[in-house]
Amino acid sequence: MATKKMREKARKVLKDVFGYDAFRPMQEDIIMSLMDGKDAFVLMPTGGGKSLCYQIPAMMRKGTGIVVSPLISLMKDQVDALTACGVNAAYYNSSLKAAESKEVLERFEAGELDLLYVAPERLLSKTFLSKLEKVELAMFAIDEAHCVSQWGHDFRPEYVRLGELRDIFPDVPLLALTATADEHTREDISDRLRLGKAKRFVASFDRPNIRYLVAEKRQPLTQILQFLEGWPNASGVIYCLSRKRVEDLAVNLQRHGIVAAAYHAGIPGRSREKVQDDFLRDRIKVIVATIAFGMGVDKPNVRFVIHHDLPKSIESYYQETGRAGRDGLESEALMLYGSGDVNLVRRLIENVENIDQRRVEVHKLNSMVAFSEALTCRRRVLLGYFGEPLEEPCGNCDICLDPPETYDATEYAEVALKCVKELKGNYGMGYVVDVLRGSKNARIVENKHDKLKSHGAGADLNADEWTSILRQLVHHGYFIQDVSRRAAMLATKKAERIGSGEPVILAKYQPGVRRQFKRLGMKRDEPLFKKLVKLREELADKEDVPPHVIFSDVTLTEMSQRKPESEADLQTISGVGQHKLELYGEAFVEVIKEHAANEGNKKTTSDGKDIPMLIAKGPGLNDTQSYTLSLQRKGMSVAEIAATQGVSEATVLKHYVAIIRAGQYIDVPAFIGEDFDTIMQELDDADPYASLSEIKRDLSVDLGNEEFRLVLAWREAIGVA
Ligand code: ADP
Ligand code: ZN
Repeated sequence: MATKKMREKARKVLKDVFGYDAFRPMQEDIIMSLMDGKDAFVLMPTGGGKSLCYQIPAMMRKGTGIVVSPLISLMKDQVDALTACGVNAAYYNSSLKAAESKEVLERFEAGELDLLYVAPERLLSKTFLSKLEKVELAMFAIDEAHCVSQWGHDFRPEYVRLGELRDIFPDVPLLALTATADEHTREDISDRLRLGKAKRFVASFDRPNIRYLVAEKRQPLTQILQFLEGWPNASGVIYCLSRKRVEDLAVNLQRHGIVAAAYHAGIPGRSREKVQDDFLRDRIKVIVATIAFGMGVDKPNVRFVIHHDLPKSIESYYQETGRAGRDGLESEALMLYGSGDVNLVRRLIENVENIDQRRVEVHKLNSMVAFSEALTCRRRVLLGYFGEPLEEPCGNCDICLDPPETYDATEYAEVALKCVKELKGNYGMGYVVDVLRGSKNARIVENKHDKLKSHGAGADLNADEWTSILRQLVHHGYFIQDVSRRAAMLATKKAERIGSGEPVILAKYQPGVRRQFKRLGMKRDEPLFKKLVKLREELADKEDVPPHVIFSDVTLTEMSQRKPESEADLQTISGVGQHKLELYGEAFVEVIKEHAANEGNKKTTSDGKDIPMLIAKGPGLNDTQSYTLSLQRKGMSVAEIAATQGVSEATVLKHYVAIIRAGQYIDVPAFIGEDFDTIMQELDDADPYASLSEIKRDLSVDLGNEEFRLVLAWREAIGVA
C-alpha cells in the first residue's frame, strides 16, 4: 500500500521538479495506485493534468517509464518540457536520424532514462520488444488512449495492437489516459487495452474556466472582429466548416491587422507544420481552421475558440472548445449560430444512405441545435449530454450571466408528462408536440393517439413554444431522449417531482437566439507581464523550444502580480521548480527588479475599475458555491442570495471566500467599500509574526470575521499575501 512517506515523496517531486504546490484532484491517488503496481484507466478532461499522473511515478519507480503517444510533435513538446525541468527523458520515433536513434537506445539500455516516449508502431516491433525485455521497466502509459477505438474521433490503426502489452508484460503496471467524454468509446478502450481489472479514475469533465457563449450569426466577420477586440494579443482558434470559408476568413482577418493564418487538409504538409509551429511559438496569434486542426496541438494558452459554423455534434463541440484554457486561466468559447447552417447540415444528412447512421446523425444535429437554442445554463446542457449532472447553473455562460426571463411552467410540465406517459415512451419530441397540440395527422390517427386524454391538451401554445418547453425539460433532467430508440422521449425519476408541489421554472420562449452577453473584463499587470513574455520569447528562441516550455502564462501572470525580487521568492511561484530556477531565475528576477524600480513598486490593488486576474489558491467550487456565484453575478446582494439559497449571510460570505480562492472574480474591494484601501495598507504593515486574530484586533476598521477572511483570500488571489 502507498504509505504516507510515499505520498510525501511524490509531493516533493511535484514541488522540486515541476514547481507546483499541490496535486490536482485525483492526481495523487492515480500516482499512488501506480506506485502499488496496479493498472489504471484515467478519464480526465483536457487540461486536467494527465501528464503528471505517469511522469511522477515513472520518475519514482525503478526503471524507465514507456509512454506511447500518437503524434511526433507532441512527443517532442513533452520531452522538451521535461528536459527543461531537469528530467531524463527522450523520445524514439521516425523523426530521429540514425545516429540520434542509436544514442537514445544506448541511454535507454544503460538505464539512464526516467521516461521514454515511443511511437506505437515502433514499440511493437520485434527488435524493440526484445530490448524492452532486457531493460527494467517502471510502467507503460498509453496517452490519448481513445486512438485505439474506432468509435472515437481519432482512430489510429497503429494503436490496435497495444492490447498485447498487457499479455507480454504482465508485471509492469499500465496506465491508459484519455479525455474522451463519450461512454461508448470508453468501454471500447477498456476492452481493447484489456483494462477490465484496472481501477478507473473518472474526473469531472467540466471545464470551469471556459465561458460558453452562443450568438446569433449575423455578420460573422464583424462579430468576430468585435470579439477579438476583447482579446488583444491572445492566441485563439476559429473553426469553419469548409476550406473556402477558412481561407476567406483568414484573409479578411489579416486585412484587419490580425496575425492570422489558415489551416486545412488542402495545405501542403510542410506549410501546415510551419503554421502549427508558429502558433505554438506565439508568432501567429489566430488560426482559422477546419476541424483538421487540433489533435496535434498541445498549446496551453489558447484563450478562445470560435465556431464560425455549427459543429457536427456536441462531442465535436466539446472537443474543439476544450482546446481553450488548458492552463486553467479564464478562456472563452464563442459559437455563431445561424439557421442557414442547420439547414445545410440537414441537407447533407439527407444524403446519408445508411438509415441507422442517418438516424444517429439526425439525433446529433438535433442535440447540437438544442444546445444552441438552450435557455438553460449551457454547461448544464453540455455536461448533461455526457451524463454528468450539474445541479446548479454554472454562473459562467451567456445564459447564466444574462439570464432570460422565467415563469412557472408547472402546468405545462404536468401536461407534457402525462402525454409522454400515455405514449409509453415510444415517440420522439416532434410527435409529442403534435399530440399535445391536437394534430390529426395520418400517423396520429392511425395510432389512435387522437383518443388520448392529453391529445390537444396543449393547444394554447404553438409548436415552437412546446418544443422550447420540452427541450428545457430534457435539459433539466425530467426527460431523456433515448438515442438507441429514435430519440424517443422517456420520463426520468426526477419527473416524479412534477406536480409534487415543487414548481418547474422555465425560461420564456423567445424566437431567435439571444444575441447579447456580458463580458467580464480581464486585466492583469500588463506592462510587467509583457516584459516577462518578451524575456520568455528570447530564451525560447535561444533554446529553440516553444515559449511555454520555459514558463507557462500562469506562472508569468503570478510573477507579474507578486513581483518576486529574489530567487527564493521566485521559487514560491507555481511552476518554478529547482531546475528552472537555476536556469532562468536570475534573468526573470532581474526584469522584475528593474520594472519595480521604474514603477515605484506599485503592487496590484483594485481601484474599482481594473479587474485583476485572480490566482486560484483553493479547490474548485461545489454546487452551492457556484450557485452563489451565479446569483452574485446577476447582481444580487448577500442578503438576497442568502434568502434565495435559504442559508445565513455568513454562509454566503463563506461561499465568497471559496469563490475567490477558486480564482473566480468577485469585486471584493467594492464589496468591502471605502475602508478597503485602509485595511489593505494596515495588512501590508502588519507584524509578520502576529497571529491572524491579533492582526484583526489591531485593525483600525471593525471587520466581521467572514469579511476579514474574504480580504485575506483576496490578497492571496491577487498575489500580495
Ligand atoms: P492534459 O494532458 O490532461 O490535457 P496537462 O498534463 O497538459 O493536461 O496539464 C495541463 C496544465 O496543467 C499544464 O500546464 C500542467 O503543467 C498544469 N498542471 C498539471 N498538474 C498541476 C498541478 N498539480 N498544479 C499546477 N499545475 C498543474
Ligand atoms: Zn451556465
